[in-house]
Amino acid sequence: MAVIDGKWCRMESEEMPYSDLSFGIKMEKLLHKEISKYQEIIVFKSQLFGNVLVLDGIVQVAELDEFVYHEMMANLPLNCHPDAKRVLIVGGGDGGVAREILKHPSVEKVVVCEIDEKVVDVCKKYFPKLAESFSDVRTELVIGDGIEYMKDQSSAFDVIITDPQDKIGIAEGLHNEGYYNSMKRALKPNGLICSEGKDMYFELSFVKRLMTFSRKLFPKVAYGYAVTPSYAPGHIGFLLCSTNPNTSFKEPLKTLTENEMKERKLKYYSSDIHRACFILPNHIKEDLYPD
Ligand code: SAM
Repeated sequence: MAVIDGKWCRMESEEMPYSDLSFGIKMEKLLHKEISKYQEIIVFKSQLFGNVLVLDGIVQVAELDEFVYHEMMANLPLNCHPDAKRVLIVGGGDGGVAREILKHPSVEKVVVCEIDEKVVDVCKKYFPKLAESFSDVRTELVIGDGIEYMKDQSSAFDVIITDPQDKIGIAEGLHNEGYYNSMKRALKPNGLICSEGKDMYFELSFVKRLMTFSRKLFPKVAYGYAVTPSYAPGHIGFLLCSTNPNTSFKEPLKTLTENEMKERKLKYYSSDIHRACFILPNHIKEDLYPD
């Protein structure tokens, strides 16, 4: 849970790294606080970060750098797929990943499966630039558990993005082999997945576990990262898997021109950033790519 202490909001959680670390942000104003059926939801305004959404003591979105995570979660898989038409996002009730997906002309349908309707309501009010994706005719919002939803899907999506930000509580089941198996079944031929891949320092053993079981299921698996000051480790990872053995995550199939980047208002993602995000420090590479 977050601890509101005078002007400070301190992220504290049972989940690493916040179980051993307190990450505090000074608040200008507390905008919202409630306990929904699933989690504690806090929104506050901060001078440094803008509006910030905190769920169960973990920062999910901050206006300062939300575009980093959302652009990467959308563009890494979509620019490695030749023609993604149907995309599923599990979690992501803020609408940020959907907003970036909808910028891709090939996309005909985006399903957002979010367990907590209250997150969507709060984001519509305090993060309207993210939640605007919910009013696009191509977006379908399903309120429900992504684990159950996935079990019912078969050859339905070109790309599946899992955007939970936590690894305990309601999101725990989104990080195990059973769920990855369901995603594989839900993909169309040559489909791709992109999951939030935690950070490389505090969560390396967790990332290794994800990569180990993913390699049993998918012929191509890769890990990249991006710089995100609003998440305590300062960066966040992305796990990408493809059912197509010819996929090369490190070299996007679709590269973007300067004009395309301007039209899509991309502030972080570029084709160069795409290639660079998979270049890992030696000590991490040795752990994640032992062969
Ligand atoms: N986009 C954010 C970011 O920048 O990091 C993170 C997304 S955040 C809004 C994660 C969402 O996943 C939460 O709204 C949470 O309710 C949802 N979620 C967690 N477990 C889920 C599950 N099992 N099924 C569907 N949604 C889930």
